[in-house]
Amino acid sequence: MKKLLIALLGFAHVVIGQPEQKFIKEENVTRVIKTLTADEMMGRSASRPEHIDKAAAFIASEFKSIGLKPLDGLTGFRQEFKKDMIAPQSLEVTINGQKIPAENALLVTEATELNLTRGAGVIVIPYDTAIKNTRQFLLSKAFNLTRDTATAFVLVAPEFKENFKELKGYFGKRFTSGRRTNKIFVLGVTSVLSYSVKATQKIERITMANVAGVIPGKTKPEEFVVFSGHYDHIGIRPAVAGDSIANGADDDASGTTAVIELARYFKNVKNNQRTLIFVAFTAEEIGGFGSKYFSEQLNPDKVMAMFNIEMIGKPSKWGQNFAFITGYERSDFGEILQKNLAATKFEFKPDPYPQQNLFYRSDNATLARLGVPAHTISTDEIDIDKFYHTVDDEVETLDMKNITSTIRAIALSSKSIVSGKDTPKRIDKATVR
Ligand SMILES: [Zn+2]
Repeated sequence: MKKLLIALLGFAHVVIGQPEQKFIKEENVTRVIKTLTADEMMGRSASRPEHIDKAAAFIASEFKSIGLKPLDGLTGFRQEFKKDMIAPQSLEVTINGQKIPAENALLVTEATELNLTRGAGVIVIPYDTAIKNTRQFLLSKAFNLTRDTATAFVLVAPEFKENFKELKGYFGKRFTSGRRTNKIFVLGVTSVLSYSVKATQKIERITMANVAGVIPGKTKPEEFVVFSGHYDHIGIRPAVAGDSIANGADDDASGTTAVIELARYFKNVKNNQRTLIFVAFTAEEIGGFGSKYFSEQLNPDKVMAMFNIEMIGKPSKWGQNFAFITGYERSDFGEILQKNLAATKFEFKPDPYPQQNLFYRSDNATLARLGVPAHTISTDEIDIDKFYHTVDDEVETLDMKNITSTIRAIALSSKSIVSGKDTPKRIDKATVR
């Protein structure tokens, strides 16, 4: 009797998806995403705490009202860490008695002070008419040079003038990498007989925070399932038609909203056997520092699966009721999800844009490198999405129905993983670069 009853209930559940309909509501989705994308969130740049902390506080308040618990060892939902930024202050370069104009000099170092009159080597980057892509040529040469520790002038041929400007942009205010190098890039100088380099830089320590909450597992508390999305975006940009705030509605307020609504759902259905961790990552857009820090605070072997959610705001290339999974072939995560959706009209497909390298372009890759079956779920037509990383990625361009139905599908698709019945195969670390 009992068995049959459970089977019947199970059947009804899958077809109708009642708890998903009941606890994942379009009105909540709309409220959360509108809050995250409001102009007062200032584009949620992870390197501007005074901007992004508003979004973090909002996500934490949702987690609190839902009734999540903080991560082990923390008293609140903020999982904080520090990053150092280098801010160049002054640079004076004189070569062969001539002062080099500021626009023609670039110093790459992590020292706060540099005073150089001897001992530097000289490297030349000449121009050759055979170079097809001067931009790529100069940038890759320069980035390779900053990996070696030698102190040297890098004399860049004047033909690279435009690319030099861009290079200077890359090495403006930036995060420290821990690399010891002193490279003085100079445009349009052909020999170095005598010189002096004087520079000062400031180190600014920035506090960043993931926002994470937990629903402990009933019978398998030491087995974790992670639901994640990144709440940071690209901040303030050059204005387009008077608008300079990149609100990042699809990227990735949509995924962050999914994380919040999934937390609400699982807290209501109250049947997770494994421990569920809901995390909104910071600093995805500027180097993935948030997921990196998160992955270092737990034992990755305990993470059974990671559902990372990115850009589910607009219907997929196949229309509504479809989403895709990056790195589909790397584990059986996608097959398990699809099996749980078999009785519905929703379908998860393999990533149709392999040339876009999406598997590596979000926070799932950090955990995949540790062997976790960590995949990103998305609906975005990334190859033709004209709003991607522009100030026009606004909430008005999103389809709330698509977001809601995708979140419901994710909830249902995770069922056998959350219950501990299915465990996806580990990703082969050796194949993740
Ligand atoms: Zn994103």
